Amino acid sequence: MDSERNHRFMNAPSTTETTSENCRNCSAATGGAHFCPACGKIQPLPRGADYFAFFGLPRKLTLDSAALEQRFHSLSWKLHPDHFVRATEDERQLSLDRSSQLNDAYRTLRDPIARVEYLLGLDGMRNEGEKKQQAPPELLAEVFELNESLDELREARASGENAAQMTELRANLEAAQHKFESLLAEVDQELECVSAEWDAALGSRADEAARKKIMERLNGVLNRRSYIRNLVNGVRKELVTGD
Ligand SMILES: [Zn+2]
Repeated sequence: MDSERNHRFMNAPSTTETTSENCRNCSAATGGAHFCPACGKIQPLPRGADYFAFFGLPRKLTLDSAALEQRFHSLSWKLHPDHFVRATEDERQLSLDRSSQLNDAYRTLRDPIARVEYLLGLDGMRNEGEKKQQAPPELLAEVFELNESLDELREARASGENAAQMTELRANLEAAQHKFESLLAEVDQELECVSAEWDAALGSRADEAARKKIMERLNGVLNRRSYIRNLVNGVRKELVTGD
C-alpha cells in the first residue's frame, strides 16, 4: 500500500493520469470525485470523464430530472469559485473548470434529446449520415405533397391571390402541420421505447454487439426526428410569415 502510494506520488508531477485518480494534495485515491474523500481538496477533472460520470450517474437514458436538478444545484454551490477566493491559484482554476463542466453537463443531460445525442457521441455512434436532407422512405409521398402546398402558398402570396384561395391554401398547410406534429410525437415515443431498451441492456450487462445495435437504432430515430422537426418548423415559419 505504502509503496503503491509512493509510486503514484513520485509519478504524479509528470503524468496527468495519476493526478486524475489520486489527490494531488494527499495522494489518496479519489475515484474521479469532485473533492478528495480523504482531505477534501477539489480535484482536477479525470481524463475522459463524461457528463454522466460527472453527476455520478450510470450511462442510462431515463433520468429523474428532479434529482438531477437537485444534484446540479448542490454541486453548483460546492464548486462555486466564490468558495475558492482564498484557495491556491490552482484550486481556483479547478473550481472554474468544474463549474463550467457542470453547466455543460447539466444543459446536456436535462434535455432528453441532447442526452441521447451525447450518449451516442461518446461511442462515436452519432451519425447524421449523408442522407440528412432526404425524406425517410415511408414519408416520401407526404413530404412531396407538403412541398407542393408550400410552393402553392408562396406563389399565391407573390401573385397577390384572392383571400378565399389563400385561406384554403393555409388550411391545407395547417392540416399538414398537424399531421407532421403527430408524427413527431410518435417518433418521440419511439425514442422513449428504444431508450428504455438501452437502459435495460445496460442493466443486464448486455454484450457490446447488442448495445451497438440499440445505439444504431437510437441514431436512426434521432435522424428521423430531426428531419420531421425541420419540416414542422418550416411549415410553422411559412404560416407565421403572414400574407
Ligand atoms: Zn486528498
